[in-house]
This record gives sequence, structure tokens and C-alpha cells, in this order.
Amino acid sequence: MNDRSKQFIKDLIAEYYKKNVIEVSRINEREFGVGDFDAPIKRRHIAFTDNLTFNNFLRENAPIFISYSSALYSYPDARPMESKLLKEAELVFDIDADDVDSPCKGKHPSNVVCEICNDRVKEETIKLVEDFLTKDFGVSKSNIRVNYSGNRGYHVHVIDNDLMKLNQHAREEISDYIDPDPESFDIDILFSGYESSSYKKAGPGTEDNGWRGRIARVFVNLAERGDAALRQLEIDDSIIDYIMRNRENIVQEISEGDWSLLWSYRDQLIPKIVRYASSRNSKSIDKNVTKDIYHLIRVPNTINGKSCMIAKEFSYSDIDRFDPMKDAIVRKDEDVKVVIKDAPQIYMNDTYYGPYKDITIELPAYVAAYYILKGYAELSC
Ligand SMILES: [Zn+2]
Repeated sequence: MNDRSKQFIKDLIAEYYKKNVIEVSRINEREFGVGDFDAPIKRRHIAFTDNLTFNNFLRENAPIFISYSSALYSYPDARPMESKLLKEAELVFDIDADDVDSPCKGKHPSNVVCEICNDRVKEETIKLVEDFLTKDFGVSKSNIRVNYSGNRGYHVHVIDNDLMKLNQHAREEISDYIDPDPESFDIDILFSGYESSSYKKAGPGTEDNGWRGRIARVFVNLAERGDAALRQLEIDDSIIDYIMRNRENIVQEISEGDWSLLWSYRDQLIPKIVRYASSRNSKSIDKNVTKDIYHLIRVPNTINGKSCMIAKEFSYSDIDRFDPMKDAIVRKDEDVKVVIKDAPQIYMNDTYYGPYKDITIELPAYVAAYYILKGYAELSC
């Protein structure tokens, strides 16, 4: 990126902080880190006494990146880390388009997003909140904060009092529960007491909580859709034939937790269902972010220097309507001229731009900034 392009980005960011006030909860208990074009975090162990001081800092410095700790400390700027005296930490989930299976994989460069991967990553965020956090962990939605990452995903912050006290090990267990290893999934626990019981409905049923219900629902859904859907489980054809021949009874019985018709296949079947369910549900969470209490993450509503978009916070109830490529852009009614050698198509503010090849073109400032930061354009002289 040349100096003129850098200055253009800096000016856009500075203007954003002049026009907007960023509110950070419990600001005096958090550690901050700032970054520039070379590194998202160049300097850390920074603290602010209040939001006024913080906003003055943003206006004066227009940092390319600003991150904060989800942890809350007595002395956030103290070092080493132990001297900060940890009080508690928000439970954080980072869901990134990179880690989500999407039909557009390989069809565009991975540093940009299209409508398809944007929708997929949103779907995963909704599943995390609905299927896991609220249903399995009983978190109230009033204790869940969601923001766009400002680049290719979403951040979910849980501020539930009990969960904020969890240590690193417990957080690791939570992310392993959400994204389990199918090979080490404990099948016997799912069916404990099943074999000895004359009452055959002790297996996972569709109405059950947690993974039990998830496994039964995923299987029933695939079976109802037919053999092509079942083939996605990658089980032997002979089992698929057997399921299809007895489909009605199997679906009926498994809905109620009775797996007797599939009993002899369970050792092959259950890990395959878990694998299928987890890759659809949750492979997308970055486990390192969730377990690392000391991790610094983008401050909501600040600019992400990888895209010049806003890490926009919004009410979870609005997630269906939220369109990052429209709602998280830095608006400016100005076109700027950029030189592009080769750039993929992007979709911003309800408009398609590109693909472009060997062209000098006037683009809205936020589109130009996006292309520049992704390495596809430079500001023209
Ligand atoms: Zn895509």
C-alpha cells in the first residue's frame, strides 16, 4: 500500500471518529491494544479511565485497529499479566467466514466476502445463540451482545454472571461441547441404561436437550429427506437401503428415543451423525478465542483496518435484517479515483462492483477503501 493510499484510509478513519462517539462498558477495567497497517496489535497494556478520554484518543490517533480485553481487571495497564488482577471475563465467540463451509468456497478470494458466505456465517451465529447458548446453556438473550467483526464474521460476547467467572479450562470444555470431536464422542453416555432397560425409549429423541436432541433431529431430518440426504452421512449403502426400507418405523421410533431398529449400526452411525451435525452447526467457532481469557478483540463500533468497515454492534433481535455490507460501511458521499490491476467482484450497499482488470476508476470512498485494504487497488494520483 503506498503512502497516498495509507493517508486516504487514515483520513476516513479519523473522520469516522470525529463524527461518532464509541461507548465501551466497564472501560476502566479493560486492557486495550492498538495496531497499524503492519499489525493489528502493535502495542497493548493500554488503559483508559473513561469513555471521554478514550474518544479523545480515537480522534487524535485514528488507530487502524483498536482492540480490548473481554477480561476485566483491577489494574488493566499493569504488567506482567498477573499484576493486572483478573476479576472475570466475558465469554467470547469469534465466527469467521474462513472457517464456515460455504458453497462459494474457492469461487472468490478468501479475503473478500460474497452474499453467500455472509449469509452462511450469519446462519452459524444464529445457531450458536439459539441452539447452544440459549437452549443448552440457558443463557438469557439479554446477556448476549453481538457485533459484526468488521471484516468477515461476527463476535458474540456473553456477559452472563456465572459464565464470566469460568476459567480457561471450563471455556475450553464449552467450545469442545459446541464443536465436539466426533471420534471421541461418548456413545455409551447417549445410550446409558438403554440395553438393560426393557423400556426402549431411553436413547436420544428429537425433543431432548443438548446433543441428544440434536443427533436425533439431524438423523430424522436426513431420513425424511431420503437416500440422497442420508448419503451425506457417508455411511455404507447397505445401511441406507435398510433405513429407506424401514424409514417410517425408524423415524417414528427415533423421534421418541427408541433406537432398536438401528441398534446394530449405532457404532458406525452415531459418529457420522455427530460429524455431520457439528460441521453444519459449529465448526466455525475459533476455539482459541473462546478459551483465551487474555485475548484482545476488536472494540465494537470501531473501524476494522482490514476492510475499513465498522465492527458494528446491533441488537440480536435484528440479526435477520442486518446486512454488514450495507449497515457496517463507513458512509461518505464522495467518489475517489483508484488504480486497479485485478480485483474480484464485491457487493456493497446494494450494488455490485467489479470484477475489474487494469482500470482507473472512480468508486465510492468505502468501496475504494475496501479494495485498497484488501490489496487490490491504490489511490490514483
Ligand atoms: Zn462467498
